[in-house]
Amino acid sequence: MDFGLTKEQAMVRDAAREFAQKEIAPTVEEDEREHRYNDKIVKEMAKLGFFGFIAPERYGGTEMGYLAASLATLEIAKESPSYGVTFNLQMNAIQSVLLAFGTEQQREQYIPPLITADAYGCFALTEPDTGSDIASMLTTAREVDDGYILNGNKMWISGVPVATVGIIFAMTDPEKRHRGMSAFLVDMQTPGIEQCAITEKMGLHSSPTGEIVLENVKAPKDAIIGNPGDGFKIAMYMLDRTRLSCAARSAGVAEKCFELAKQYANERTQFGQPIIHFQMIQDQLARMWCEHEAAKLLVFKAAWIVDNPQQVGGRPTLHISTAKYYGAEAAVAAANEAMKVYASYGFGTEYPIERFYRDAKTYQIVEGTSNIQKVIIARNFIEEKKG
Ligand SMILES: Cc1cc2nc3c(=O)[nH]c(=O)nc-3n(C[C@H](O)[C@H](O)[C@H](O)COP(=O)(O)OP(=O)(O)OC[C@H]3O[C@@H](n4cnc5c(N)ncnc54)[C@H](O)[C@@H]3O)c2cc1C
Repeated sequence: MDFGLTKEQAMVRDAAREFAQKEIAPTVEEDEREHRYNDKIVKEMAKLGFFGFIAPERYGGTEMGYLAASLATLEIAKESPSYGVTFNLQMNAIQSVLLAFGTEQQREQYIPPLITADAYGCFALTEPDTGSDIASMLTTAREVDDGYILNGNKMWISGVPVATVGIIFAMTDPEKRHRGMSAFLVDMQTPGIEQCAITEKMGLHSSPTGEIVLENVKAPKDAIIGNPGDGFKIAMYMLDRTRLSCAARSAGVAEKCFELAKQYANERTQFGQPIIHFQMIQDQLARMWCEHEAAKLLVFKAAWIVDNPQQVGGRPTLHISTAKYYGAEAAVAAANEAMKVYASYGFGTEYPIERFYRDAKTYQIVEGTSNIQKVIIARNFIEEKKG
């Protein structure tokens, strides 16, 4: 069912599905086992236009929108949650920020190579001692005559150590907390930057994650995005768009776990019949069905709102955080239930269930934890008392 998708959006979904099944799936298990990031896959995704959905044609994009982007992301994540992350790194983070806050020169310089994957992006908020509370970050950017000097450490940054360009968030006026944060577009080969891979992690082994050390890194004056002090506002805008992508990935994983569990339940025989005939297995599958359908619909709705802001008015944050929270929980629940349906074969590595089980956990953490999404959602319900 196409659920009101345009012909073009349905074509994007089908192209992404075909690419994921033909070009990613055959090597995904080996790539994950070997912790291999295959940039050829990213370049092929670029050739298919997967990183050009939000930018106008003059930068090399198609401007098809966030719903098209979400459909492609969902399909890629169904085969590989790792390569699902690349949508954020190449598109949803840097491109959305530059389109909303960048100068024409910044857009012309950075958006086209991100679309073609001639540049690899990252965005860096998190630090060793700063996660959810980003306004407490310790990285600083000191203004000098001809630019800024950046110092600090960023931790758990996707795309590191292969990133060639990044948005680095830093305090230009630490006393002012979130009003003293700024965002910088940084060439990741600048002297003073060290990118180190985090190799010991639970999953997403084909998606590099790492630490950035910034030691007296000189950024030119025009590296700042917007004005000094705009960083927090930019981060919130960016996170709305990266969370949407995360929600699409989680909906893809929830759907894939449902499909795999359904298939296995029809094939596996115990007590003389396929296990799908046991009501308790049906209960599990029925719940997985409902939850992944709901997760997808929340993603489609949130993406549609981002694509059609005039229809709703105001920021799309509530709808995006709803999709992000629900999708993350649905993906983890689906992987957990699929693991139970597969039982010992789920625990083994012959089937991909344990991989989805590990990778799904990231959706409850990245782009703001599930708790943080609930904080954002519930903020909308608080009525200020007058007087
Ligand atoms: C695979 C991976 C990739 C990542 N990629 C990036 C990236 O590209 N860029 C980047 O900047 N970061 C990235 N991160 C970091 C991620 O965004 C942070 O881990 C996340 O924001 C949570 O921060 P934290 O881990 O420090 O947890 P903490 O903030 O220390 O939270 C610990 C616990 O406290 C809870 N908590 C905190 N505050 C509240 C509150 N107000 N109310 C209720 N509960 C609360 C949290 O929900 C959590 O359960 C990545 C992380 C991972 C694992």
